[in-house]
Amino acid sequence: MKNILELSKEELISYFQKIGQPRFRQVQVWNWLYQKGKLDFFEMSNIPKIIRERLARDFVIDLPKIYTVQKSKDGTTKFALSLHDENIIETVLIPEGTHYTQCLSSQVGCPLGCTFCSTGKMGFVRNLSCGEIIGQILVAKSYLKDTKDKLKIRNLVFMGMGEPLLNWENVKKAIYILRDKQAFDFSYRHTTISTVGIPKPLQEFAEKDLGSIAISLHAPTQELREKIMPKAASIVSLNDLIELLKNIPLRNRQRITIEYILIKGINDSLDHARQLNRVLSHIKCKINLIAFNPGEDIEYEAPDEKSISEFEKYLRDKGQITTLRKSKGQDINAACGQLRAKIL
Ligand code: SF4
Repeated sequence: MKNILELSKEELISYFQKIGQPRFRQVQVWNWLYQKGKLDFFEMSNIPKIIRERLARDFVIDLPKIYTVQKSKDGTTKFALSLHDENIIETVLIPEGTHYTQCLSSQVGCPLGCTFCSTGKMGFVRNLSCGEIIGQILVAKSYLKDTKDKLKIRNLVFMGMGEPLLNWENVKKAIYILRDKQAFDFSYRHTTISTVGIPKPLQEFAEKDLGSIAISLHAPTQELREKIMPKAASIVSLNDLIELLKNIPLRNRQRITIEYILIKGINDSLDHARQLNRVLSHIKCKINLIAFNPGEDIEYEAPDEKSISEFEKYLRDKGQITTLRKSKGQDINAACGQLRAKIL
């Protein structure tokens, strides 16, 4: 039976039209599902009983199941979720003052195999469906309700397992549901896609103004990118990616986030900082430095405090807006793919 979470707004309206019901039934169902979190057709009390019975005959409401939950000392909560085919994905709630940011997965595993990434090491299993993407938020919301946690989820980042723009059709469908006022009502400002830079969908994401863009750059030269992110570097060369970013449509105050994982002895020298500054000189961006978080199956090491601060200072002195992201949840394997790797 079809999972109702897989249906776009138009698809649900067309279903109701086919069974001779008015369009506003779609609004009612979305309201129950996505705003009230009621995951049982029979509790949708403003819908006639006969229609509720019909819905229950035609659809299921299928959510990923919580396999494990780990809470870090800093409040980061990491879920391993089991899908209908027993594949495991991860989603993480990161506390940020008055709210949570939820980090979402878009694929089981990842085909890109970046050498510093636990998910990349696993290889690719399959894309997530739209319902499995949305399901991650529904599961997290219901967990927060059950644990009487008052913080709300305000920001969404597609930064979990997988390259979201290699699963663009499903991710796009999910984003349209997430931003719809009748559903979750997440604004474009609170939705970020993190990508190595797959040109066509990236352009579409920007042109349709679907949210903020974070580019996983991690290397300031094509040569180094080929070494540490070989597949990404073969999909788009650094030159082409930079050209694309120079011309991408942005709102007035919007900046592209450049993600740069500092790895000891690989990309963390002052020379690398100089090259990075040069490469980004004509891009409206802010740089997010992240100290590599060692995983059990990866041989790279975390950078020294000294090289981190020198790298950061160099970029700041050159006028680059630069932040150093503290890696949260270190005690619970919160880097992408680490928890799943452990479970498997
Ligand atoms: Fe895939 Fe992102 Fe990991 Fe690269 S860093 S392998 S794109 S999940």
